Amino acid sequence: MTRSTLIVGNWKMYKTLAESREYIAHLKPLVKDVKSLVYLAVPFTALHASAEAAKGSKIVIGAQNVSEHAQGAYTGEIAVEMVKEAGAQFVIIGHSERRKYFHEDDAIVNRKVKKVLEQGLQPIMCIGETLEMREKGEAEKVLQHQLLHGLEGVSVSHVAGLIVAYEPIWAIGTGKQATPEIAENTQRFCRGIIAEKWGKAVADKLIILYGGSVKPENAQEILKQPDIDGLLVGGASLSAQSFSQIIEG
Ligand code: PEP
Repeated sequence: MTRSTLIVGNWKMYKTLAESREYIAHLKPLVKDVKSLVYLAVPFTALHASAEAAKGSKIVIGAQNVSEHAQGAYTGEIAVEMVKEAGAQFVIIGHSERRKYFHEDDAIVNRKVKKVLEQGLQPIMCIGETLEMREKGEAEKVLQHQLLHGLEGVSVSHVAGLIVAYEPIWAIGTGKQATPEIAENTQRFCRGIIAEKWGKAVADKLIILYGGSVKPENAQEILKQPDIDGLLVGGASLSAQSFSQIIEG
């Protein structure tokens, strides 16, 4: 089964409108002929300008979060319909920073995944364990729980089309990277969980990304692993130059 290679940049809370336009103008020619799919998750405020700037290129623009509600009196929240109108084609859901700082649990993640799917956008659902959980031998149990609860009630056809990002929390923004063996074994385990619940054909189609301190120097080693279909890149996506080096390989 060949799955496309997908490289996703996550700018987090960085980049003004001017910086977003400048970055995309810089990245466009660098990724013109690459084989991988290229996604960029930008701040809400930069969605429209980034989608306009990315027109006619390989770069697909998406959001880093979204409300679980369709609309209503939820001051400060942004609905899926709004990010879609602004040009988002995908949404990152349940990033570990959202889980940690904004107390998002698997039930919230599940509602957000469904809301994103309802509007025809692609969710990238993030899962990952803490160092303490890994050291206690609980990583697999935690990941299984996050997968099954995050995707509860999601149809077979939707699961096949969404993206899961495995991001060990101890490797995000810390400079510590999971060894390619740990990442591969964990992602194979996750694919097995999907196969058990939604069938092997769905699991074979599902794109599973690795994320956690990926840089141009370590990206290719990780991408060689059979169950790693792409990368979710935070810090190293902030420079168009280093992001393009990761994409080009
Ligand atoms: C992330 O933001 O999802 C991430 C993996 O960050 P970093 O690459 O900086 O570790």
